[in-house]
Amino acid sequence: MLKVYNVLNRRKEEFVPVSGNEVKMYACGITASGKAHIGHAYQAVIFDVIRSYLEYRGYNVTYVRNYTDVDDKIIIKARELGVDPRMYAETIMAGIDKEFEELGVCPPTICSRATECVGDMIDFIKKLIDAGHAYPTEYGDVYFDVDSFPGYGKFSNRLEGEELLSGVRNETEPGKRNDRDFALWKHAGDDEIFWESPWGNGRPGWHIECSTMSMKFLGETLDIHGGGKDLIFPHHENEIAQSEALTGKQFAKYWLHNGLVKVNGQKMSKSLGNGILLCDLLKDFIGDVIKLTLLMNSYRSDINIMDGIFDSNESKIYDIYKLFAKIDRLSGDMTDVPEAGQAGKDLAARIKEEFIDAMDNDFNTAVAVANLFGYTAELQKLVQKNLVGDSVLVKNTLREVYGVLRLLNSDPAEVIGKIKAKYLAKSGVSPEEADGAFQKWLGFKNEKDFASADAVRNGMAEKGILFVTERGGGSYWDVKTGK
Ligand SMILES: [Zn+2]
Repeated sequence: MLKVYNVLNRRKEEFVPVSGNEVKMYACGITASGKAHIGHAYQAVIFDVIRSYLEYRGYNVTYVRNYTDVDDKIIIKARELGVDPRMYAETIMAGIDKEFEELGVCPPTICSRATECVGDMIDFIKKLIDAGHAYPTEYGDVYFDVDSFPGYGKFSNRLEGEELLSGVRNETEPGKRNDRDFALWKHAGDDEIFWESPWGNGRPGWHIECSTMSMKFLGETLDIHGGGKDLIFPHHENEIAQSEALTGKQFAKYWLHNGLVKVNGQKMSKSLGNGILLCDLLKDFIGDVIKLTLLMNSYRSDINIMDGIFDSNESKIYDIYKLFAKIDRLSGDMTDVPEAGQAGKDLAARIKEEFIDAMDNDFNTAVAVANLFGYTAELQKLVQKNLVGDSVLVKNTLREVYGVLRLLNSDPAEVIGKIKAKYLAKSGVSPEEADGAFQKWLGFKNEKDFASADAVRNGMAEKGILFVTERGGGSYWDVKTGK
């Protein structure tokens, strides 16, 4: 039975969609004001995996993720660069889409953009005004009237008074009746991008975007609403107020929030200059390495990215793909791969069962990933015993099950080639040089000149090229991965 931690009720609950097998899921996306950092990647990976696991469990998932492509920050950035804000946002979004693809995050069913739904937002705001939940001001702004929605503050567990203001930006907003009221529509300043509306030229507020887009594509009640935990207040509190004030129905049945990303124990910030951009990370590491690192954490807790963590996980991923490649070689050499024996069948069954146990427990990827390392150690033993049929079954099961986490999906030869090339480039040794030294080493060994053989081997090891002798006698050269 799948259980999820529902932030709405602050407890783990059985997951039962509103309507049969259909899951309607919305996750707040990125504001296209700058390049994606590791925090954006974390959220995208988490909700992609949640969606993927729900599909694995037989649900039919419609997943909407948005881009906020008009916003104060975008306008400021574009102005600094002297470009059109929509063009600026367009470039940022295209870059992020490409990076997510490279990371191996599947696109949502619908990727909605705020600027494509402004007409719907204006309709939404009109209805809120008609129902007495919002009011326009003489300055061309429209505010949500928080006092008209009695449940306000419940979701974020905030009390009446001061606490409701924390997290709300202090701006001078003339015409606002109550400090807690928030903008649904903002009038356009001089030379700012605008849309025409009954209240004059302006643009939508951030909160109304998500309420409108989720309702437009998924209907009045969502099964899952997701986002980072930093969005609980005011963003999600405000989304609930707007949506439920309009429909009188529950806005989302389950609220799921991912933790935040810290770097070496500290919050990422501009002033510390410790942010990690996804584009930079992708220059060094393949998607599997980045995703494995992010999924070693359970999604609700904050994740701490320590120096060297990606390098050490790269070694782990490299070893797993090398093991897969070896099994492919062994089975490829056979005319008939034997059927798996009991050992392989038992291990394959256990892998599936334990994966479902972990993921059914609020998508506990931390446990699922920890288990993976145990399984690969067991698989290694099957290979050493030359149980090819068992090894093939277990390898295929690992690829199927961990494919749900969008891991281990790649072609082993391709991954090995990429990682090898990276470390060869680092070492400054060409493949031909490595081959040459390796042949020399084999020659000295054949001549029983072990002193010369060791000298060649140690010389290459210093440069990060290892000569490996397997159990059973086969030898090859390899790169030394990690830091
Ligand atoms: Zn949102």
